[in-house]
Amino acid sequence: PADAPRLDLKDHIRGIPDFPKPGILFYDISTLLRHGPAWKEAMRRLADIVRPHRPTLLAGIESRGFLVAAPLALELGLGFVMLRKRGKLPGAIIGLNYALEYGTDRIEMQADAVRPGDRVVVLDDLLATGGTLAACIALLRQAGAEVPAAAALIELTSLKGRARLGDTNFEALLAYE
Ligand code: AMP
Repeated sequence: PADAPRLDLKDHIRGIPDFPKPGILFYDISTLLRHGPAWKEAMRRLADIVRPHRPTLLAGIESRGFLVAAPLALELGLGFVMLRKRGKLPGAIIGLNYALEYGTDRIEMQADAVRPGDRVVVLDDLLATGGTLAACIALLRQAGAEVPAAAALIELTSLKGRARLGDTNFEALLAYE
């Protein structure tokens, strides 16, 4: 109903201090996932953000990005592509190494997952430094896809991750400092 109080998604996210290591405040989406109406509302709002970009496919970043991208793909009637950590995917693979605070990581996808001309929107649970998402966008482009937009449930704004995403549009449902 129009006069129903707007559901505050922040009521369904908890911050857990010092996880996975001291000094990190971990934004836990488990409480959002396990609350039916809040989770449905989050997916509805993300669908409204993603739809105008007219994607032909959605991509999710392992592993919590899968939880966001797969139901959204169903909702929008689109296919879903997995962007995974090294060594998890079978068959012909393309991948990209990217820098972490300490060391490097690698993101991979199946070489035939996208076709030139596909418009892929990338989803994750949370944008922090933007390193992971920037690498995923670069990899999809290398495979010939356009990446008009990316979205997440949460953005940690003080880390300025969206500055690393170039001309890819980015939106998040919730912002924390
Ligand atoms: P980044 O590459 O720095 O943007 O890190 C993004 C990835 O790390 C996302 O896939 C998040 O799931 C995870 N992540 C980073 N920081 C946090 C945090 N404070 N709470 C929860 N997840 C995080």
